[in-house]
Amino acid sequence: MEVDRDFIIIGAGAAGLSAAQYAARANLNVLLIEEMAPGGQSLIIDKLENYPGFPEPVTGAEFAQRLERQAKNFGVEFLYASVTGLSKKDDLFEVETTRGTYKSYTVLLSTGAKHRKLGVPGENEFHGRGVSYCATCDGPFFKNKRVLVVGGGDAACDEASFLSNLTDRVIVIHRRDRFRAQKALAERILKNPHIEVRFNTTLSEIMGENKVEKVLLSRTDREEQYEEEIDGVFIFIGSDPQTALVPEAEKDEGGYIVTNQRMETNIPGLFAAGDVRSTPFRQLVVAAGEGAVASHCAVQYVDILKGEAYI
Ligand code: NAP
Repeated sequence: MEVDRDFIIIGAGAAGLSAAQYAARANLNVLLIEEMAPGGQSLIIDKLENYPGFPEPVTGAEFAQRLERQAKNFGVEFLYASVTGLSKKDDLFEVETTRGTYKSYTVLLSTGAKHRKLGVPGENEFHGRGVSYCATCDGPFFKNKRVLVVGGGDAACDEASFLSNLTDRVIVIHRRDRFRAQKALAERILKNPHIEVRFNTTLSEIMGENKVEKVLLSRTDREEQYEEEIDGVFIFIGSDPQTALVPEAEKDEGGYIVTNQRMETNIPGLFAAGDVRSTPFRQLVVAAGEGAVASHCAVQYVDILKGEAYI
């Protein structure tokens, strides 16, 4: 079987873009495959303020463009396509895409994670008509309107904070009696005069005629349900790792891919990095670091296969 590329990276988020530039810089022939735009989850960040070395916040989109430019400067080839299959035969991976099939010595899965849905009545029906999973993208449609944010993690707090710049009528509901989010983010929300936090509260239904008009909220600590007039519902209740391409890869109880510290999965030559990987802290800086480690180890793996390893 003839090989097309040394290293194929699936997913151009922070992990994939970082891995791509490290590998290209180490002289591997790299193909980076992405089905949307480069940047992954960073694209929905309004103000990136905790990435080391960026004392002045940048937008996630600008951050993504910088990563993309840097990877291209080192010669990374981008392919915009969906990956439809991934298999391994005789030391070579075969990556099937909507724009052709490619063979490589090694593969990095940096496919990230996708936002979770609540599964309440009205959620699918009003998606795009008041229900959103991205405040940076859709927030501006709700200037001075009443918005509800669902969730208690970093994403919910970050996005509520962004929405509070557009309207002073933000309600955040969380099913528990305190936030899961990092303390600093949670405190910022609790102190924000434009945000009302309602703990022990869940969303039971989203209602309206042609767009969202009201929601049915339920208390988790007592038998109580009530309606609230709302124009926009923003849901941030975590995400699910995108692992459909690798059913045989070992996963943790949350479905995230388990690797060793070299970012190697249980399948030789298959690496995983970023939000798709089992890790205690999902951050851009972590994803970028994992991409660099995966890349370094992929270079060593390819050298061994080619008989060029420095042992
Ligand atoms: P997360 O940390 O998993 O939080 C999800 C929140 O949604 C939790 O509070 C959870 O409640 C709640 N939830 C889950 N299912 C629910 C349901 N069916 N009904 C009601 N509430 C539900 O997810 P995330 O906030 O999207 O963050 C994901 C990762 O990205 C985290 O590692 C986070 O640190 C990182 N991140 C970081 C930043 C930042 O540093 N600025 C920003 C965004 C994301 P329970 O608490 O009860 O489980």
